[in-house]
Amino acid sequence: MNIRDEALNQLEQFGENNLGLYATERNFDYGPQKRTNTSNLSKYITHRVIDEEEVIQSAYKKFSFKKIEKFIQEVLWRTYWKGWLEMRPQVWRDYTKDVLALAGEKQKQPYQDAINGKTSISCFNDWTKELQEYGYLHNHTRMWFASIWVFTLNLPWQLGADFFLKYLKDGDAASNTLSWRWVAGLHTKGKHYLASEWNINKFSSKKYNNLKLNENAGCCIENKNYEIIPLQFENINYENSLMLFHNLDFSFALKYQTILQCNHYGMINFNSILQEHNYAKNVLELKSKINQNLQTLIKEKYNSEIIIHNKEELNKIIKEKNISTIILPYLTTGYENDFISTIKNEINVKYLTRDYDKFCWPFATKGYFAFKEQIPKIIAKFL
Ligand SMILES: Cc1cc2nc3c(=O)[nH]c(=O)nc-3n(C[C@H](O)[C@H](O)[C@H](O)COP(=O)(O)OP(=O)(O)OC[C@H]3O[C@@H](n4cnc5c(N)ncnc54)[C@H](O)[C@@H]3O)c2cc1C
Repeated sequence: MNIRDEALNQLEQFGENNLGLYATERNFDYGPQKRTNTSNLSKYITHRVIDEEEVIQSAYKKFSFKKIEKFIQEVLWRTYWKGWLEMRPQVWRDYTKDVLALAGEKQKQPYQDAINGKTSISCFNDWTKELQEYGYLHNHTRMWFASIWVFTLNLPWQLGADFFLKYLKDGDAASNTLSWRWVAGLHTKGKHYLASEWNINKFSSKKYNNLKLNENAGCCIENKNYEIIPLQFENINYENSLMLFHNLDFSFALKYQTILQCNHYGMINFNSILQEHNYAKNVLELKSKINQNLQTLIKEKYNSEIIIHNKEELNKIIKEKNISTIILPYLTTGYENDFISTIKNEINVKYLTRDYDKFCWPFATKGYFAFKEQIPKIIAKFL
């Protein structure tokens, strides 16, 4: 089955069989063999194989707003994190700098024990192995894992976020970095998340005794204030342009086909860049599968077989086809965007932004509570 059909099928199955119980069931982690109480759509939504609008619209077809309100709020957490980070790109820059600066810590025993599931905390060891095997952890388990990493194992949050980003099939720079900061008490300053033995045993399918967690730790502190940088959406000149689709917005190629006016179309494959950052094998395999499907789609819909893997290939095609502007579906903060930023001085690159993102991201100026107040406006516009 192609990746889009796979995602639509999952959306339909979840909506039909489990969405109705989502609000009451979502916090339970029943283990990797029983993942029906949440949607399991994140790896598709991260790559926009299906997008947030489609997910919300599909949920609406099944139930009343009241019944699916919690689910919609969760889908919009992703949108909130995206907008929040787009307006504070320095958070990502500092994080990536910190990850590099902390490279020495990765050689030390406490970090090695954590990523090899050899700590004294049995549940944590189980989750480490589960993450590496399945490329997924339940949301509640991600919260416990991050909390134990930071407050009981006393490891830097940045290295935990780095570990997650490279092993999660849904790994997303905004949701991941900012969730780790939220757990550490850096997002809502002074408010951290402490995992506790009773909570783990209530919501996890496997029961654990004598965990010896630090349930009274103080929160992490940093002396930085990240100012908002207003969002800027670029004007696009389609003259002599090459549109490069990518796997962080798969469905862009489908959704906007009728309005795109580029001279040439193709795909950019970021896997070699992610490989340099040591992304896990099964994550790269998923991305390859999405790339293959995207390639087929571009051939069918745009009659093109252009694939770009690096700067040299990009320069070659620019010369061959006399390209003035490279256009990409908006690349949000992350390593893929970092790569494009390095070539922006030499090549004219523009990002094309979806209306949904343009509308929603500016609401992410403060905390999620303030963002949530805007949900009725978002629903009214996009439903
Ligand atoms: C430390 C930590 C790291 C995380 N890293 C990521 C990440 O890299 N990528 C990622 O997509 N999510 C991340 N999350 C959020 C969340 O855990 C996953 O989105 C969710 O577990 C995916 O499972 P699901 O598709 O069954 O979610 P459902 O509960 O069915 O939710 C539906 C969709 O809403 C979105 N969503 C739900 N909860 C959240 C949330 N808290 N934040 C952002 N989006 C949400 C996802 O797109 C998800 O597919 C992280 C959470 C924590 C605590």
